[in-house]
Formats: sequence, structure tokens, C-alpha cells
Amino acid sequence: MVDLHCHSHFSDGELSPVDLYNKAKQNGITTLALTDHDTTAGLSELHSILDKEIKIINGIEFSTRWKKHDIHIIGLNIDLENIALKNLINAQKESRLIRAKHIAEKLEACGLSEAFAKASVIAGHEHIGRPHFAKVLVQEGFAKDMQEAFRRFLGRGRKAYVHTSWISIESAVFGIVQAGGKAVLAHPLKYSLTRTKLTELITDFKLAGGEGIEVVSGLMTGDQIRDMGSLCNRFNLLASTGSDFHGEKQSPVSLGQQARLPLNCIPIWQDWIVTQ
Ligand code: AMP
Ligand code: MN
Ligand code: MN
Ligand code: MN
Repeated sequence: MVDLHCHSHFSDGELSPVDLYNKAKQNGITTLALTDHDTTAGLSELHSILDKEIKIINGIEFSTRWKKHDIHIIGLNIDLENIALKNLINAQKESRLIRAKHIAEKLEACGLSEAFAKASVIAGHEHIGRPHFAKVLVQEGFAKDMQEAFRRFLGRGRKAYVHTSWISIESAVFGIVQAGGKAVLAHPLKYSLTRTKLTELITDFKLAGGEGIEVVSGLMTGDQIRDMGSLCNRFNLLASTGSDFHGEKQSPVSLGQQARLPLNCIPIWQDWIVTQ
């Protein structure tokens, strides 16, 4: 089993990289990519594990801006020391921090005090994401669950939504390619795009040097998977797969438990390993 998309507590996941590794072993995973949002900080902990039973792929999930949409681009098999990649990561860190301060101001205007400090405590680091604010909103009784926190406060166009100056798709793909990696368009059905817009997005992504698309991501129906499989082949892209696991409470699909790729797709990991 291969899982090329998951999150640790270095971004918005619940588990430490070591706990993710142990869960991956329990779930029969042979190859695992850690793809935290805009950071590679969790990877050294994974590489410090000495049993080598699971092949670790260095990954990242970049937040990018494309025509008013926040689009996620995954980098796989990247060189963590690459300067172009490190520069992008630093730029994203800055944007994320500025955004967090703006979100906190908006939440404070809604009556939530000390929002930034509270989100920092929940995150355990300054790489604060909307899910950390969502947890604060739930904890303080402003929303009954994280979905409601996004629906009422943090989702696009809601009370505490902040437009973020994320890097472009071109920059993200460029950095990933410079670092020797492959760029993958994450969860194509999560952006609520029309079919015309989605094909425009894939065309731009491919023009920038993107090589893969997540044909399977988290919970999908068989029809959705077949649809993404044929889109992948139509654009001559390689197919990726991942659970997008954040923790048992947050994620509908556990680590490595996503459906198999359609047989007619070419796996993006074909040069790294042999079995799915
Ligand atoms: P950020 O990168 O800080 O903008 O946060 C995006 C993350 O928020 C995603 O990767 C998901 O983990 C989470 N997320 C997005 N929408 C929702 C939602 N409606 N309910 C719960 N979590 C969400
Ligand atoms: Mn997330
Ligand atoms: Mn994502
Ligand atoms: Mn993700």
C-alpha cells in the first residue's frame, strides 16, 4: 500500500511523524510521503527512524493562488536542501504568519479574545493554519465542530476569511522541479470548480511543469475515481494517491486506507517502487 499525502503535527495533523510511521506500519503501508502544509520540518524526525521498513518520500503540500482559488500543489521526492525550495518555504511561512494575525484580528472583532495566542498553543508552533483557529472556536463555544467553524468563520468569504498572498502555481512547481521532485495537483475535486475551470487549471499546471494529479484522494466514490483517472490519462499525467490523513478524528479515511488507483493509470511512483 502506498500513501503519498498525509499531515503530521508539524502542520495541522494530530500525530507526530513517529506516530504516523507506526500507524503506517500497522496499516501495511510500504511507501509513505509526509506532505505537511508549506513545511518540510517533520521529515527529519521520520528519517531518524532506523528500522527502514517503510520507504519514506520527502513531500510538501504547497498552498498556491490561482485565479482567486486556493489550489494545493504537492511536491514529491524533493531534495530538502535545495535553495529555491527553501526560499519558497520561507516566503510561505511569512505569508501564513501575516494571515494568522489578520484572522486573529477578525476573530477578536467577533468576540474571541487572544485568538492568536490560543491558536499558537493548539498548534504547538507558529505555523498556524485555519484548522488551529477552528479548534479554538470549538473549544470556546463559537462553533459546535470544525465544519461549522469553517462554515461560519474561516471558509472562503466568511467573517474571518483572509485573502492570502500564497505563491503562484508556477512558482510552486518551479521550486519542486528545481529540488528534483515531481509536482502533483492535489485533490482536484475539492475546489468546487466547473469542468471548464478544472481543465483550465490542469492545462496551466501542466504548462508550468506539473507531472501528476491525485486520482485518488481521501474519500471518493468509484465514479469520481474513474472520472479523475480518465482526466489524468487525457492530459498524459502520472497518477498519485493519498489518504490526506490528518488524524482519526478529522479524516474520513485512515492512513493508507484510500481506494486503489484505476489499473489504466501510470503511478507516479513507478520509478521509486514497484507495488501499489
Ligand atoms: P490552511 O492551509 O491554514 O488554509 O488550512 C487548510 C486546511 O483546513 C485543509 O488542509 C484542511 O485540513 C482544513 N479544512 C479546510 N476546509 C475545512 C472544513 N470545511 N472543515 C474542516 N477542515 C477544513
Ligand atoms: Mn490540512
Ligand atoms: Mn489540501
Ligand atoms: Mn493535505
